[in-house]
Amino acid sequence: MSQLRIALLPGDGIGREVTAEAVKALQALEAQSDDLSFAFDEFSAGAGEYLISGDPLPAETFAALQAYDAVLLGAMGLPDVRRADGAEMSPQLDLRERLDLYNGLRPIRLYHRALTPLKGYGAGDIDLLIVRENTEGLFHDRNAGHDPQAEWVENAMRISRKGARRIAHAAFAEARRRRKKVTLVDKANVLPAMAYFRAAFDEVAAEYPDVEAERVYVDAAALYLVQRPQAFDVIVTENMFGDILSDLAAGIVGGMGMAPSADIGENHAVFQPAHGSAPDIAGQGVANPTAAILSAAMMLDWLGREAEGHAVRAAVEKTLQDAGNRTRDIGGELSTAAMGERIIGNL
Ligand code: NAD
Repeated sequence: MSQLRIALLPGDGIGREVTAEAVKALQALEAQSDDLSFAFDEFSAGAGEYLISGDPLPAETFAALQAYDAVLLGAMGLPDVRRADGAEMSPQLDLRERLDLYNGLRPIRLYHRALTPLKGYGAGDIDLLIVRENTEGLFHDRNAGHDPQAEWVENAMRISRKGARRIAHAAFAEARRRRKKVTLVDKANVLPAMAYFRAAFDEVAAEYPDVEAERVYVDAAALYLVQRPQAFDVIVTENMFGDILSDLAAGIVGGMGMAPSADIGENHAVFQPAHGSAPDIAGQGVANPTAAILSAAMMLDWLGREAEGHAVRAAVEKTLQDAGNRTRDIGGELSTAAMGERIIGNL
């Protein structure tokens, strides 16, 4: 039996609280299996680590992580901890760029009809996947800094041919495993960089004649996500649009506590809930651990343990069928640990 080595980066705020539940879920699977074994090692990174060492992602931590089979991350950053130029610590973004984790997967699934503010949708009726380009786009200039006295500041949107083509390929490959439809979300009517992104998408789309390809401007995509989310299967988009639309999409299936994510490259992958450190509720033990547990399920899939990944998703769905199994954000009263226990109880 080979052991899977997992680096844990719980990070800041509720990241620590929800990661603990994801680890317990993985340990529960391990206890039931003859051939699944994990070794977890925890590392400190994030705004808290910056306050201790002056570096949110120490070089030795970054080097050590790369020897692991996968990284499970909580959330990083605190609004009050900022660099001199006013930007926050965001080592989770540094990791994506430095490990070239270009493929940001954000599945959006409605697990129970009570979780959506939209009328007429039941479990499974909303089921889409946002494929977010993670390494360039409008985030490209995030470390550019600025002079507060300057008369103007600009941040460029970088789209490379390689970056645009590989994320389009990733989206079409995902669509082949799903309902065979990819929607490109861009702003090709206004921005030259987005017209370039679309041209690369069109070239790649021609290689997948079995998959339907459509193109939608980002403003319309925001509208359609609310009006008819069932029309989407896979959405592929640039970094900033993906950042914004994935929160909007989380909002139609119960909020950030229900939205997992994976950041995948050729050699490494990081799995984390799509939410941040939620300082407004951190330390209270009320955060919803579901997104973190579903992120662990994505990690299992990526590690070739799809049966266990599926078992975790089935346990989440079963748990949410009982209206008593809810944390505060989704209309209930359970603590983080109690919600984790209910899900694990159904595993
Ligand atoms: P956030 O995702 O932390 O919180 C947004 C809202 O959703 C808050 O009301 C919060 O209480 C709620 N929420 C989030 N996760 C929840 C959960 N599991 N259970 C219940 N409610 C939940 O976004 P924010 O407030 O904009 O950012 C807070 C900090 O996190 C900032 O410092 C930001 O930079 C950072 N951040 C980090 C990541 C990451 O690590 N990947 C992502 C986004 C934001």
